[in-house]
Amino acid sequence: GSRVEIRDLSAFYGSHLAVTGVNLIVEPTEVTALIGPSGCGKSTVLRCVNGMHLNTPTGRVQGQVLIDDINILGKGVDPVLVRRNVGMVFQRPNPFPTMSIYDNVVAGLRLGRRGRRTSEYDDIVEVSLTRAGLWPEVKDRLKAAGSSLSGGQQQRLCIARALAVEPRVLLMDEPCSALDPISTLVIEDLIAELKASYTIIIVTHNMQQAARVSDTTAFLTVPGLGQAGALVEIGPTS
Ligand code: ADP
Ligand code: ADP
Repeated sequence: GSRVEIRDLSAFYGSHLAVTGVNLIVEPTEVTALIGPSGCGKSTVLRCVNGMHLNTPTGRVQGQVLIDDINILGKGVDPVLVRRNVGMVFQRPNPFPTMSIYDNVVAGLRLGRRGRRTSEYDDIVEVSLTRAGLWPEVKDRLKAAGSSLSGGQQQRLCIARALAVEPRVLLMDEPCSALDPISTLVIEDLIAELKASYTIIIVTHNMQQAARVSDTTAFLTVPGLGQAGALVEIGPTS
């Protein structure tokens, strides 16, 4: 994993200040839970850590996000480099539905890992699916469509797709909120395993989940209607 440091971050959509006053250090091999009410800016903070916010038409930022001491919000930073180092998993499992399981896993590779030969893909697929807890479960179904899997399996496929590019940081935006309780526990166990290798930030609405999976909890709040969210408290998850 990489050390992630967010310094005095504010993020705007056009002139709308969405979130401000975010200072956060995430050490490698730690899980940080980002908690707070709807609209306080949790997703926006994640999108700043993977550089996506600056790719949205009106997105603007102040402050810094350092990944291994490089400010990825600075001028001249290659967005492809950022995406190679920061994997992202979304609330709704979003495998490419008509693409095979195999092709889903390697979908990010052209973008993410320059110079990997297609002859290496078999190994990458097995390793990534193993890390995501889907191997050998789907070993005999690699040609089946991504959409043929259950919701929980689809989310693990999305995790495999994110891991295939060998990121150092893994961002998860409410990865379990569309899943049933059993699949949720499977993903939580997976997070506990992945944390040895990746720096993980997880957005969750669920305090019990934060307690189960995270080392550090960061609370964001919104002071009033239409006002910017801000980080109010950080501490060890108790
Ligand atoms: P959360 O993830 O905590 O629910 P978001 O990061 O989605 O919060 O949203 C933070 C604020 O930014 C909200 O006020 C929301 O309305 C606003 N916002 C989010 N996305 C956009 C967008 N694409 N354009 C304009 N405003 C947005
Ligand atoms: P899409 O963005 O339409 O899902 P991509 O081919 O761009 O498809 O994404 C391939 C992989 O990259 C997926 O694992 C996806 O979660 C991840 N990804 C997509 N956008 C970003 C981003 N801005 N930052 C980091 N990872 C991303």
